[in-house]
This record gives sequence, structure tokens and C-alpha cells, in this order.
Amino acid sequence: MRLFQCITNFPLRLFYRYASNTRLQVFQNAVQIVDPQRIRNVGIIAHIDAGKTTTVERMLYHAGFIRSMGNVDDGNTTMDYMEQERERGITITSAAITIPWNKHRINLIDTPGHVDFTIEVERSLRVLDGAVTILDASAGVETQSLTVWRQANRYHVPRLIYINKMDKPTANLSMCLNSIREKFGVEPILLHTPLGQGKQFTGMIDLFNELIIPANNSSKPSPELLTNDRTKLIEKLADIDDAIAELLLFADKPISTNQLIQAICRLMVNDQRYVPVLVGSSLRNIGVPTLLDAIVNYLPSARIIPTSSSNTDTLMYIFKTIHDRQKQPLSFARVYSGSVKKRMVLTNARTNEREQINKVFLPFADNMEDIDEIRAGSIAVLSGFKEASSGDILVSNRKSTIATHLNDLKQQYPFLPDPGLEAPPPVFFCTIETYSESTQKQLDFALKNIKREDPSLRVRIDDQTGQTILLGMGELHIDIIRDRLKREYELETYLGPLNVNYRETPRKSTQQTIVWNSSINEKHATISITLSIEPIISQDKKIISFSQIQIVRSDEQNFENLKKEHVEAINHGIRLALSTGLIKGTEVVNIHVKLHDLQLTGFISPALYSAAASDCVRACLRHADCTLLQPMMRVDLVCVADRTQVVLEDLARRHSQIIDVQQGTSGSVQNSMSTIITRTPLAELIGYSSTLRTLTSGQADFTLAIDGYEPVLNL
Ligand code: GDP
Repeated sequence: MRLFQCITNFPLRLFYRYASNTRLQVFQNAVQIVDPQRIRNVGIIAHIDAGKTTTVERMLYHAGFIRSMGNVDDGNTTMDYMEQERERGITITSAAITIPWNKHRINLIDTPGHVDFTIEVERSLRVLDGAVTILDASAGVETQSLTVWRQANRYHVPRLIYINKMDKPTANLSMCLNSIREKFGVEPILLHTPLGQGKQFTGMIDLFNELIIPANNSSKPSPELLTNDRTKLIEKLADIDDAIAELLLFADKPISTNQLIQAICRLMVNDQRYVPVLVGSSLRNIGVPTLLDAIVNYLPSARIIPTSSSNTDTLMYIFKTIHDRQKQPLSFARVYSGSVKKRMVLTNARTNEREQINKVFLPFADNMEDIDEIRAGSIAVLSGFKEASSGDILVSNRKSTIATHLNDLKQQYPFLPDPGLEAPPPVFFCTIETYSESTQKQLDFALKNIKREDPSLRVRIDDQTGQTILLGMGELHIDIIRDRLKREYELETYLGPLNVNYRETPRKSTQQTIVWNSSINEKHATISITLSIEPIISQDKKIISFSQIQIVRSDEQNFENLKKEHVEAINHGIRLALSTGLIKGTEVVNIHVKLHDLQLTGFISPALYSAAASDCVRACLRHADCTLLQPMMRVDLVCVADRTQVVLEDLARRHSQIIDVQQGTSGSVQNSMSTIITRTPLAELIGYSSTLRTLTSGQADFTLAIDGYEPVLNL
């Protein structure tokens, strides 16, 4: 050891320089690849612990970025770059990473699997051209990958599946394939035959190339096994793909590897009922280069919009915003048309504001390489934006008609994301305080930054108490915000108890008239306003916030003198009244408000319009038989089969509607797990994970997804 230390200084420095030189070299190689045909924007979908981080780390190693392999168990990997992620062992942010491979540029985009981060998943899914789903060979399809898989279905993202951890003693390939059929509802096309099982797993046969992987594998499978499995695979493909069927029946030459690859590519795009499956063990470094090859060979290349039809030189979509160490915002953008360059000025299609890019970076987890230009098809990280945030589309031309033009473009290029993806309404809220008044400003600043990164977080100031209120998507979500305040902003905060964000809604229609008198400086004025409210019955149990009043014109009242600013003042007053309902002081939703009459004498200020409208809506609400609406959650739960009854009884006590129970389905070790699906009020699920852990001795897992709002029955 001492000897080693003596010689370390110089050689180590050399080593580091060598390492960073190689990194630079690899990077330069990546930068040169600009042809969209050679770019793959690929998402990774995986349940926690399936091996996402290990796999990405191995990819970086094979691509030459890093000289030694990191280990997630030591907390030193590159992809999960936020500190809490390392500690919690989960992936929260959609970090992007660029990997050059075989003359292609692979942009890997992480999709967090936790339900609290749905909006992040949705945004990243929109910019993907394909995805890789990583499964744990001993667990099959698990709940979180199922949730994200379903979301990816909505965007028709072509996918391939990588069954990792084939070296685990409990690995079970046929169980995995069955769970892919049952849970994902697709037919797996296994491209490999594994060699050895569990600890004896040494690699696999690549059936297309008739190769044994890895190259140094000493296993010698029999030639019959190879021919047999390859023939079966080709026959399976022939059943699905006409071109292969024809080749099999009529061609006089054997089918080439290239023809088989083409068949898989066609399936990826045209028939997503079939999914190619690869196997490997990332930890033992088996199968990762094959996975990279598969990404390049099978997943579609980056889709772009030609500048001729985009009507603008540059068009890009921001799918994520983060703040760097100096708290400057960095935007992750997918460039769809033209290119982004340093110092470029762009128009935000949402606000029509002009914004300037400062620097352009190619993302490499927490490292960003500063470059001059990134062209259409790739992912760029941009600094310098003042207002642009996640979900915005920016273009280089100044035309204010760009918003309408975007709609036309979307018809022609459906893959173009809709701008301004709305975050779902928050389901939880709690107060947040710092321990001293002097730090309130810092808290406001920090929350403003975090909100820009994460639009599913809302911040409100309570009118009565002046307290800051956080509104979020789940217990973990709020917890993570607190963690971030502490780590990134050195702010100790105190959170009040977590409350479910109920809403209120009218059950009856009603109409009321309110008369307001005002007397300022002996000038008298009177306003008489007649409004009606009406419940909206939402078919999909969603909640809709009030947006605008409807004006009901009649022969007696045609509102000819009503100015735009007065309508705005009335809308403002209504919004104010609806923000605090009469039952619990929560927002009143699913409501139409109509204006029927307005009588005025004297000078009426806009404030008076607002106050009268507010008062009138409150009067209506008093007669509308309002009820509370509560968020309902879809619970997808897997537990050991012998605890099914106990779990079901507990869920029934929580007023759950049981939707489906499958005892001992596959998709889990030795068919000994049960799947339960319920619909449960969110209020009943606070702290549920620890109860479930106790009930099942930790042998259960679940995901939650918002599944509409329903009236609370026992008020
Ligand atoms: P993530 O949560 O999906 O990012 O998963 P990680 O990469 O953090 O891995 C979770 C755990 O599984 C870690 O303890 C890894 O060492 C382990 N792991 C990852 N890949 C493999 C594998 O191929 N075989 C085995 N046996 N363990 C693995």
C-alpha cells in the first residue's frame, strides 16, 4: 500500500488526464453524429431495483466514457445525479445522457417510475422515439414498469424489453415471458437463448447472428440447439411478418441477419402487439453491448420536422427544467427542426415573449459539454432562459401566428408534443414554514425555482393566516421537496400535517340577485347583479376548474355597455369566491356560472364588480346543496399469495372497491404472488406503505394512480 502511495501522484495524474482525454474523444465522436437517421432518443422504463442504473453505467463503460464501472451499491453512479436519488435508491428526474455507439448517437432519457412524478414521465415520453424496458429476471413485470408501460402505450412508443439479472439463482425466464404476455398484453419475441441458469448463467446465443455472447464465453452449445432455436424464431416471425413468410417459402437463399433485423424494425413501428426481448446480466457485464446494438438496430431513428414545413428555422420543446449549482435554470429540450445555437433568440409560442439562449450543452448526467450547435433530432441542454419552462415550445421566428401554425403542424407531424402540458391537479397539501422569519425570502426563492422544474408542485399563500402552502402529488413528492430545500438551499423547514386536497361542487342549480350600495366621497352608486350556477356532470370523474362566465343575453338585457374589463372583474370575483367553498374552504369545481342581469347607478369601479360577483356566487353556493369531492386512487398491488386475504380485508376497511384479484399469478417468483386492483379514496391511503409492509412482512408492492374524483358519502 505504502509503495502504491509513493508512486501514485504522478501516474495517477497521468491516468486521470488519460481518462478525461478518452472521455473528450468519445464526446467529440458523439458530437459529430448529426444525421437524425443515426440518432436514437430512447427512454428507459424500469421498476425500482430492476437494474436501470447498473445497466446505464455499463453502457457508459462500453462506450468508453468511464474507465471503471461504477456500482450503485456504493452510490457512485452517473445517471441518478440528484443526491437524494442516490440515498433513496430511486430515480426522480428525467436525466438525459448521450452515448455514442457504433456511429450512432443514443440519447438515453430516464423515465421515473414513481406515481408522484407522473407529469415528468408524460413529458419525457413525448420526446422519445423508442424505449427500453428493463425487467428483473426473478420478478417479471412489476407494478411501476406496468404503470409507465401503460402511459407509453398512449404515445405508441416502440419498445424492446431487456430481461436483466439472469444470473440470480431465482431468475425464471419462462415466468418473465408469461408475465410480459399477461401484464403488458404483448407477445414477446425472444432473440436470445440463455446459456446456463442462475449462478451458472454464462451468456446467451444471439439467434439472429448465430453468435455466442460474450465473446469469451467458454460454453459450447450444441449446433442442434442453435439451429433449432433459430428456426423456431424465424417461423414465429414468418407467422407475423409477410416478407419473412415469403422469404421462408419461396427464396432459394437462407434468410439473412439483415432481413431478420428489418422484420423486427417493421414490427416495432407497425405492430406493437409484438416486442423483441433480450436477456443479460448487467452486474456481471453480460449482454449490455448487445442491448446497445439492439437500440441502434431496432428502435426508430429521431423524428424531425423539415425546416421547409415548420415555417421556422428552429423549433424545440422543453421537456424538463433544472437549476444548476449556481441556481441558474437549465432547460432540457428536444430539437425538432433546424438547430439551436449559442446566443440565439427564440419566441416562446405560449407567451410570445422573446428569450435568448446563453449556452448550449450536450447532456452527460451531471456533466454537460459546452458545444456550439445542436441540430434537429437531438436533445440539448440550454442555459439563459428567464421565463420559458417545461412544456413550452420555442421557435426562431417572430410571428405571433405561430400558435395556430403549431396546430397545423401537429396534424401533419403527430409526434410533435402539445405545448403546455397541464400538471394534474394536486391531491395533497400541507403548510410549510422555516424556523425563522428572516429565511422566508429564501424559501420563496427556492420554491419558485423548484416549481419551475416541477410544475406538479403548487405553492399558495393562505389568505387568512399568510402561511405558505405546498400542494403536491403524493406523500413522497412533498417529502422530496423538503429534502431538496434542505440540501440544495440549506433551508430547514417544518411541514404541517398532510391533508387531502378535497374539492367542492354544487348538486343543484340556483339563481340569486345581490344588490350592493357604495358611497365614496358622498358619491352614491348601486350595483345589482344576477348570477346562476349549475353543476357540470363530468363523465370521466375529472375535475374542471371554473374558467369564464357565460353571458346570457335577452331582449330585456343585452349587456351592450358591458366592457371587457368589467367582465374580467366579474370573472375575478367569481374565481375568488370559488377558491374557498363553504364546506371546507376548498376549491369549488365542475360549475358553470352565468350572468343574467346587471343594473348600475352611479360610477362603479372594477373592484365593486368583483365584490358584488363574489358575494352573489357565495349566495348561490348557499342554496346549491354543495358536496365534497375526494380524489380516488387506482391501487395496483402485488403481494405474497398467503397474505392476500389479510390485505383484502384491510383494503375493504379503507372503503375500497375491489376491481380484480388474481391469486398466485405468474409474473413473480414461483407463482406465489397475488395481484389486487382496487379503487380507494386517497384519504384512506395516507401512510399505507408502512401498513402494507407490516401486513406482508415487506413482501408486497403497490403503485397508485389518480382515478377521478367522487363525492364523499359520509360527510
Ligand atoms: P435501479 O433501481 O433500477 O436503478 O437498479 P440498480 O441498478 O440500482 O440495481 C439494484 C440492485 O440490483 C443493486 O444492488 C445492483 O447491484 C443489483 N443488480 C443490478 N443488475 C444486476 C444483475 O444483472 N444481476 C444481479 N444479481 N444483481 C443486479
